[in-house]
Amino acid sequence: MRLKIAVVFCFSLATLFAQSQLPQADVEKVRGGNLTIQPITHATLVLSYQKKNIYVDPTGGAEAFKGLAAPDIILVTDIHGDHFDPKTIQAINTTKATLVVPQAVADKLPPEMDKQKVVILKNGDNKNVEGISITAIPMYNLPEVADAFHAKGRGNGYVLNIGGKNIYISGDTEDIPEMRSLKSIDIAFVCMNLPYTMDVNQAAEGVLAFKPKTIYPYHFRGQDVNTFKTLVNAGDKNIDVRVRNWYAAAAK
Ligand code: ZN
Repeated sequence: MRLKIAVVFCFSLATLFAQSQLPQADVEKVRGGNLTIQPITHATLVLSYQKKNIYVDPTGGAEAFKGLAAPDIILVTDIHGDHFDPKTIQAINTTKATLVVPQAVADKLPPEMDKQKVVILKNGDNKNVEGISITAIPMYNLPEVADAFHAKGRGNGYVLNIGGKNIYISGDTEDIPEMRSLKSIDIAFVCMNLPYTMDVNQAAEGVLAFKPKTIYPYHFRGQDVNTFKTLVNAGDKNIDVRVRNWYAAAAK
């Protein structure tokens, strides 16, 4: 009996420890149930709704997703290593997963993944995947030049409709007209990271142009997100700016 208690105790500690590695998750009431928003790191997050799990730009190996259910959908925004990490995708359980990717990412999938279900979207495309509407949004650097680090047309940001809520995931971009003109966004994830995307001033201006109800700064390594929050709320105090610890794992 004592041994059993000790084993259960150790197991509980291990579970607690495993879960404490992840930043705080948020739960939103949406039509048909709860939407759980789990930041993982940098550009990586997991959205869960009605037992469907959407992994966005999975990186960090299988370790990073310990304790989370396997993905039904994997969204990849672009070819760079902080967004597309074939090693991580191969390390996690992808047996039921549909990969949603731009062509440039599809072209780089390792040959061992040629049996994986893949949906290729180009900027502007919309497709219903596993009951979730997914629209590909441009993401690129300004000015628009062919040799930009993020050239227009290669990568995809995404707008998902989950339980009636529109969720925007920016990918690596600046405050492009396509972002500024978004309508009815409930929850947005917007990057702010130099030198490849934009600074917090530019990100705040972009966000104030389309006024999501809730904004998560993400992909912000090295930037002052509290200044971003101050700037956004100075322009519109009703926008819920959620600063989360996306770099907890990196700090260990
Ligand atoms: Zn990036």
